[in-house]
Amino acid sequence: SGVLYLVATPIGNLEDMTFRAVRTLKECDIIAAEDTRQTRKLLSHFDISPKQLFSYHEHNKTASGPELIRYIIEGNNLALVSDAGLPAISDPGADLVTLAVQAGISVVPVPGANAALSALIASGLPTGKFTFVGFLPRERKDIRAVLTPLRASQGTLLFYESPHRVGKTLAYLQEAFGNRRVTLARELTKRYEEFLRGTIEECLEWLEEHPPMGEYVIVVEGESREEAQEADSAWWRPLSIAEHVV
Ligand code: SAM
Repeated sequence: SGVLYLVATPIGNLEDMTFRAVRTLKECDIIAAEDTRQTRKLLSHFDISPKQLFSYHEHNKTASGPELIRYIIEGNNLALVSDAGLPAISDPGADLVTLAVQAGISVVPVPGANAALSALIASGLPTGKFTFVGFLPRERKDIRAVLTPLRASQGTLLFYESPHRVGKTLAYLQEAFGNRRVTLARELTKRYEEFLRGTIEECLEWLEEHPPMGEYVIVVEGESREEAQEADSAWWRPLSIAEHVV
């Protein structure tokens, strides 16, 4: 059987393509890509002529996945790339990896750029422990269901967001966590890369004057010691509320 390579591609700066990524894409039998048009551009920049280019995305993954696995079992080496960054992070790649592992296929990561970790290391917030959340769901109640249990998480939290939802998402974060410190990492690795560091309120005010543009990673500090102490003594709170009601 062949091998499934998970090949990282740049998240905005072509210089972040690795030598190994170029070689792997040149040597493999099949490249599976989220957006074949975008990948063709990348391949032509690095003078890579794919033997076969397949599309593998959210809407065809159920049919396309087993087919790609069959090609690998027949002896073809397949390289999976996403639109940007590491395949299988906030894209359908993870499903293909599961199928491959179930089929006993070797899975080889070819690491490189990733938006979440790039934002985390430059955020100024603790990096020792963190939770990657990715994109939040769209519905208010689903958002709350994701955020409420994260309130007590002491590690730094990482979210992905598009420019037109970043303000809304910050408002949800404030509602769930209070006015914590955040870093908004925008246009990472690109010419106009920007880090906005402040409290959620400060960032929301800034965004009112500077409409969000480009792609964002939102890095949120974890539960602070003071918050934890408050939570520890929170058992009496329902009582004090009851007092008011009475
Ligand atoms: N697989 C990618 C990775 O490894 O980072 C993530 C893909 S996800 C579909 C796209 C999201 O990643 C964007 O909405 C944004 O939140 C984040 N992102 C990707 N490129 C970015 C960049 N250059 N700067 C900031 N955020 C970025």
